[in-house]
Amino acid sequence: MTQFMPKRIKRVSPVQTDIYWNDGHVSSYPSWYLREMCPCAECVDESTGARKIAPGSIPASTERVDVELVGNYALHFTWSDNHDTGLYTFDFLRSLCPCPQCLPGGLKEPPAQVENPGSFEV
Ligand SMILES: [Zn+2]
Ligand SMILES: [Zn+2]
Repeated sequence: MTQFMPKRIKRVSPVQTDIYWNDGHVSSYPSWYLREMCPCAECVDESTGARKIAPGSIPASTERVDVELVGNYALHFTWSDNHDTGLYTFDFLRSLCPCPQCLPGGLKEPPAQVENPGSFEV
């Protein structure tokens, strides 16, 4: 089984990160989308796996402040809302790829500003 590995991580802009994969696939991620999909314990209910961030509650203006490699298996992002506890494994990132092949229909972009950014569903 091939393991997905990024060959190159391109910081296109603070709101976009591209990953060039070892199998030739290219994924282009908006920052708000990765922030919304954050897999950390604060953002996902550990017992149910339910996502606590309401869809559309992360503003499209969310920026990537930093990205770094963690070991040989994940990326660690810091976002402009100061959230930085998510570890995005390569497999997880690949499964999030929003290209037309991987996500027919594409992403629905949230508003540039939202009233309560990152508000949590109860
Ligand atoms: Zn999180
Ligand atoms: Zn894709």
